[in-house]
Amino acid sequence: MSTKWGLPDGRERAIYYLEQPDTELPNLLKFHASVKYNIPRWVRPTFDILVSTDWEMGHVVALSGHDLCPVLVDLIIKTRDIIGREQRRLATIPPPVEHHPECRGGTQRERCESAWVSTWVLNVGRQVVHVDPLFRLESYKSAYTIQSLVAPGVSEGCLELTKATVLEGDAFDYIYNVCTAALAQIGL
Ligand SMILES: [Zn+2]
Repeated sequence: MSTKWGLPDGRERAIYYLEQPDTELPNLLKFHASVKYNIPRWVRPTFDILVSTDWEMGHVVALSGHDLCPVLVDLIIKTRDIIGREQRRLATIPPPVEHHPECRGGTQRERCESAWVSTWVLNVGRQVVHVDPLFRLESYKSAYTIQSLVAPGVSEGCLELTKATVLEGDAFDYIYNVCTAALAQIGL
């Protein structure tokens, strides 16, 4: 990527500039500079912020005087869309119930499954898509939330097995995984 711009001597200056604590460079410029001048430790943090915050495409107009790369802007917007889709999917489609061997018969299993869907959507799902980032269920908070989940109607053994499976899985790592895949597309 860095060869695209062809500015050979800006790297040191960019690193100096970006590392000053009072530098108020918008994240979009910061991300561009980190790719342009090949500063790996800046790429991921700025990309993570850009794809998880609600900055407006309209703000890019004010940045039109800057050397922005359409490929990077496009990648950010597409990645944010994918994360949004994954978030809605996680909120509305729970991981499957793992039934305990003692949970027998179609009726009991059906009861477990429908109770699990309600519990997930009303408790976990609404936190996953919470409009306020402060209350949004992020990956690092997910283990506690799952462990303390109360699910009336799901038989005890099935609930424990299901929780254990969810905790072992990577359902809540979608942001990390989507970002890794996105940056890999441009060789980062
Ligand atoms: Zn069951």
